[in-house]
Amino acid sequence: SLSGKTAVITGSNSGIGLGMAWALARAGADVVLNSFTDDKADHALATEIALETGVAARYIQADMSKGDQCRALIEEAGSCDILVNNAGIQHVAPIPEFPSEKWDAIIAINLTSAFHTTAVALPMMRKAGWGRVINISSAHGLTASPFKAAYIAAKHGIVGLTKTTALETAQEPITANAICPGYVLTPIVEKQIPDTMKEYDMSREDVIEKVMLTRQPSKEFATVEQLGGTATFLCSDAAAQITGTTISVDGGWTAL
Ligand code: NAD
Repeated sequence: SLSGKTAVITGSNSGIGLGMAWALARAGADVVLNSFTDDKADHALATEIALETGVAARYIQADMSKGDQCRALIEEAGSCDILVNNAGIQHVAPIPEFPSEKWDAIIAINLTSAFHTTAVALPMMRKAGWGRVINISSAHGLTASPFKAAYIAAKHGIVGLTKTTALETAQEPITANAICPGYVLTPIVEKQIPDTMKEYDMSREDVIEKVMLTRQPSKEFATVEQLGGTATFLCSDAAAQITGTTISVDGGWTAL
């Protein structure tokens, strides 16, 4: 059981991050949810998790595009035994038309935020004598596709950060790994369907079948519950020697 541990999950008011929060809470960890908004609905998610699982759950607003707010999130959490760097955004456009401000935002949120949170969390893990860093990369952290330059650069980058984190903690009871999901039907994927329809001049059904799941040999979306299970496994004693690596949850995408 993860009872007595605190998990901080960035970008967890929706999708995979929220699924991870539920899974880690069900495994007994106290959880800190986060996003850049500060709505009643955000705090209600934490209340719901606490009521349902019996762990302590809080929502802390912090914008992962800002380094100081990334650091403040971990400081405000007070302890961080499990750090899940999950916040992420996407933008789809060919390189010549790719807006510079989108490039900067994607690199900041999908990559640089993990540097800042890890920098504050590692000393806490060392003090506690145990820790898990789980970075959410992507099948696009290992392979590429057209029109997602910033996202793919950031997701490859976080695999590198994961390896360095693992080497700097290799002789301590701390591990760092990246989970590389294939397509999961969350809001981030929903939002890119219209742009991809435009890029390829295709219907919604064709984008799902011929663009998205064409790379996923299982022909099924992975689920947030499956990703929560992977994160929980990485927190187990069985995974204590798994560090500095990637775990694909992609229906065979990277086997192609
Ligand atoms: P999502 O849009 O549901 O979740 C993204 C989360 O990040 C949300 O909670 C959002 O509020 C948060 N976020 C965005 N900008 C933020 C900011 N500035 N500060 C704090 N939080 C911010 O999408 P998702 O699919 O759940 O994505 C979660 C992670 O999984 C992302 O890193 C994404 O790249 C990765 N991923 C998703 C898929 C997929 O198919 N859905 C595949 C591979 C990897």
